[in-house]
Amino acid sequence: MDKQELVAELLKIFGPDGMLYAPEDVLVYEYDFSLDKNLPEAVVFPSTTDQIAALLKLAGDNDIPVTPRGAGTGLSGGAIAVRGGVVVAMARMKHLLKLDVPNRYAVVQPGHVNLELSTEISPSGYFFAPDPASQKASTIGGNLALNAGGPHCLAYGTTTNHILGLEMVLPGGEVVRTGGAAPDRPGYDLTGFIVGSEGTLGIVTEATVKIMKKPEAVSTFLALFEDVGAASDAVSAVIGAGIVPAALEMMDQLTIQMVEEALQAGYPPEAGAVLLIEVDGFQENMDELTGTIVGICRDNGSFDVKSATTEEARTKLWAGRKGAAGAFGRVAPNFYLHDGVVPRSKLPEVLRRIGDIAKEYDLVIANLFHAGDGNLHPNILFDARVPGVLPRVMEAGEKILHLCVEVGGTISGEHGIGTEKQEYMSWIFSEADMETMKKVKEVFNPEEIINPWKVFPTKKSCGEISLKMRLLKSLPNMDEAWI
Ligand SMILES: Cc1cc2nc3c(=O)[nH]c(=O)nc-3n(C[C@H](O)[C@H](O)[C@H](O)COP(=O)(O)OP(=O)(O)OC[C@H]3O[C@@H](n4cnc5c(N)ncnc54)[C@H](O)[C@@H]3O)c2cc1C
Repeated sequence: MDKQELVAELLKIFGPDGMLYAPEDVLVYEYDFSLDKNLPEAVVFPSTTDQIAALLKLAGDNDIPVTPRGAGTGLSGGAIAVRGGVVVAMARMKHLLKLDVPNRYAVVQPGHVNLELSTEISPSGYFFAPDPASQKASTIGGNLALNAGGPHCLAYGTTTNHILGLEMVLPGGEVVRTGGAAPDRPGYDLTGFIVGSEGTLGIVTEATVKIMKKPEAVSTFLALFEDVGAASDAVSAVIGAGIVPAALEMMDQLTIQMVEEALQAGYPPEAGAVLLIEVDGFQENMDELTGTIVGICRDNGSFDVKSATTEEARTKLWAGRKGAAGAFGRVAPNFYLHDGVVPRSKLPEVLRRIGDIAKEYDLVIANLFHAGDGNLHPNILFDARVPGVLPRVMEAGEKILHLCVEVGGTISGEHGIGTEKQEYMSWIFSEADMETMKKVKEVFNPEEIINPWKVFPTKKSCGEISLKMRLLKSLPNMDEAWI
């Protein structure tokens, strides 16, 4: 089917107000927050599940690749239309369909923005717990596709722990339902399989999500350390003492300084590292719990602890943590944010070796991360317009992820594999492991109509160029000799 025919068919389903197809209009849908990009032929904005079913029938019959997209804040290339075709932007399917407080669940459309869900249900005294730092923009559909984490997922669990059921459209247009609000449902846990499958199995059109009661009391404080080594020891000691704070986030000195300069959030720039710690629960336990954690931090070298005594101070501290990406943007026009995981006890060694990698490749790397679960976010800051910088950035990033695996960790904590890390899958999975996953994928999406060429390695033989390299080749100032 050529583009003209495709547009004519899409217009029948979505109408002129429900799609874009001029090259200058679809341009803004060629990328997400990763480094990769590729132009789709058309972008559609469905309002109903029936429209998506009609699209996937058309796509299945004519081998048209279809890529679902939430807010495009993904960091691993998942929403990029790497084979062209149609991007399905979920922005109009953003409604709260049902709130059932006695049974503690809500039914939402996938385009609902994460933070807006909690804001909307807030008067009931409940909230949606997964809180990626992108929560002001990212959607429930994107969150569940990538099994998003967030600062408070240390205590509450990642998105998969909060999704009870799904409605999803398969290639060919069949609509299926998995799970649901009733507890202990029989049958295979397909909901658990779909969450985290990176939009490669079908397009989710509705989600039943768990809601949680807002805690009675919250205490937020900042522990200051000379360096990341001491702060890492404190993290291990807190968890080792059997305490799981609601959040336990770390920033290194470079990050603290950039955040403070941009946002004046209350992070002392002289600290070598800070831990942003939050505990929640019942009022009567709060002082004791906070006191125990502060004591552990001091025993591990914290030279000062600053408590957020007002709601305004607490909001400011979190605004600094969640707005760090914006602060990086003031220092360098590009950042490449990695997402490795390491055992907590390895944090000091890994952070020291990331410092060595920064020196080796002459790059600035700032670290902020979910320290409680060992989920690192080294940010490589650079200017892509500088000739020759991209190969250095890519090689340094690969070394960092390799280091995570070498010390017993893994290549992604929450951002997914997408196009970014698909060639590294063999570092952590055997051929048999990957074949098993592929077989399950084939049950849902056998012809790879939905979100093709993602997650699994694309390089079939020695000397062949991977999808990743093909995407990188199109970037300006990319050194082709390196590819
Ligand atoms: C500043 C910043 C901070 C971030 N902080 C965090 C963090 O703390 N924790 C974290 O986990 N991530 C974080 N991220 C990454 C990102 O925001 C999350 O992965 C988020 O879940 C992506 O949501 P989205 O709506 O933007 O999805 P998109 O980027 O649009 O899509 C992501 C994936 O979901 C698929 N998808 C989207 N909608 C559907 C659907 N309806 N059906 C099927 N598949 C679908 C897409 O195909 C794609 O594969 C951060 C990103 C930024 C830029």
